[in-house]
This record gives sequence, C-alpha cells and structure tokens, in this order.
Amino acid sequence: MSEGQDSRIALVTGGYGGLGTAICKAFARDGYKVVSSYRSPERKAHAVEWQQEMAADGLEVGLVCMDVSDPESCRSGANELLEEYGRLDVLVNNAGITRDAVMKKMSVEQWHDVIHTNLDSVFNVTHPFLNRMLEQGFGRIVNISSVNGQKGQFGQVNYSAAKAGIHGFTKALAQEVARKGITVNTVSPGYAATDMVMSVSEEVREKIVAQIPVGRLAEPEEVARVVRFLADDESAFITGADYSINGGMHMH
Ligand code: NDP
Repeated sequence: MSEGQDSRIALVTGGYGGLGTAICKAFARDGYKVVSSYRSPERKAHAVEWQQEMAADGLEVGLVCMDVSDPESCRSGANELLEEYGRLDVLVNNAGITRDAVMKKMSVEQWHDVIHTNLDSVFNVTHPFLNRMLEQGFGRIVNISSVNGQKGQFGQVNYSAAKAGIHGFTKALAQEVARKGITVNTVSPGYAATDMVMSVSEEVREKIVAQIPVGRLAEPEEVARVVRFLADDESAFITGADYSINGGMHMH
C-alpha cells in the first residue's frame, strides 16, 4: 500500500459470503479498515460469528446493516458508516442472489428478487456514498457482475439481465465521475468455489467445470486479488473497465 492509503475505508456488501470473505481478507491484510454489510437484523448473529472468525485470523472488520435491495435501508446504513468512519474510499458492490428457473417457469417474484438484489442494489448502495466520494476527490467503486451477465445463461434470464445491467451502470457512472478521482469498474467472475456454486448438484458442477478451459472452479482469492488491485491509488487510470476472471470460459 502506498503512502496515504493506510487509513482507507472499504465497504464490501455481503462481505460474509464466499467471495465477500476473500475480498474482505484481501483488504484487511493490507491495512484497510473493512466493513461488511449484513442483510437484516435477523442476520446479525451470523455476521457477528463471521466477524469473530475474522478476528481469530487477526483481521478486524466492522459491520453495518443494509438490505441492498432496499434504498431506505442502504441510506440509513450509509449514514451510520459515514458517522462512524467519516469517509468511504472503496465500495465493493458484491451482494447477490440467484433464483434460477427457465423463463416459462419463472415467477414475477423470482424476476424481481434478482433484479432488486443484484442490480437495484448497485444504485441503492452507491447513491448515498457518492457525494462523500466527490467531496473527498477519491473513490474506488468495484461492482461484481458475472460471466453470465456477459454471455447469458440458460435458466437465468433474471440473473443474466441484472448482471448485464451492472456493465451499463459501471460505464455510465465511470464517465460522470472520472475527473473527480473516482473510478468505477466491473469484475466478472466465472464460477467460483463458494456456497452459491457448491450448492448445485455434483453432476451440474461437473458440467460447469467441463466448460472451463483451465479445468477447475476459481478460488475466491483469485477474484479478490483483482478487486484489491482495482482499489489501489495507482489504479487511477483504470475506469469503466470489465475484468473477466473465468478461466477462459468466455472470451470477448
Ligand atoms: P454468497 O451466496 O456466498 O454470498 C452472497 C452474499 O450476499 C451473502 O453475504 C448474502 O447475505 C448477501 N446478500 C444477499 N442478499 C442480500 C440483500 N438483500 N442485502 C444484503 N446482502 C445480501 O455468494 P458469492 O460469494 O458466491 O457471490 C458474491 C457475488 O459474486 C454475487 O454478486 C454473485 O452473483 C457474484 N458471482 C459469484 C460467482 C460464483 O461462482 N460464486 C460467479 C460470478 C459472480 P445473506 O447470507 O445474509 O443472505
């Protein structure tokens, strides 16, 4: 970390999930003050347990309640964070869900849940922090999309649409804030070995791995290191970009 970066504050939404944990660790190990959001008061106990596991690893993380699908919850969580830490330097919009079904069987609820949690969330969480980043003249926003937002995926019209929408958001906001020291980028992981992927049947997982030229799933740390790199002060000229981390599964 370069001089001046030692007091940077990073928020990772869904930080206690599979990729989120690796991302939080990458920042905390480099001396960032890291905060993870948790979804609801009911999830606080789970978040605190995770926080204790991180502490056992020597990594300190803060917690803030934010349902990323709910603008009001995000605004109040953002106010709380800014009151406590005074600024936000790095925002990783990572929280996400899947509700898979082929289109003809997909319910309106499945559609809306995924759009609200994976796409509206990027607006809901970024919006209340943007003015502070503009005032600071520094900000790093990294949005976690997916290979399936780049190429589309059978059974995921909701998820593919939401993740594709993130690319438009990233490229538009990157232009709006480019002269203010704020970069906005997208990271598009392929399939990583987290609960989201490990919960599918072994048969489906084997089919997925067969489509990956590297011949395996990604380790969450392989995604985290790119997110961490994009947050560097020295990554100032990278904005509006999309980083694919998919083992060669989709090249474009
Ligand atoms: P996990 O399911 O392990 O973690 C998801 C996290 O998001 C959890 O902490 C979850 O909290 C949180 N979350 C879900 N809904 C909300 C909400 N409404 N408000 C706040 N937090 C919420 O998933 P991964 O770590 O695998 O995925 C992280 C991101 O990476 C997602 O955006 C996913 O789409 C993307 N991705 C993942 C890939 C993979 O292979 N794993 C591949 C490509 C992209 P809670 O447990 O409390 O619900």
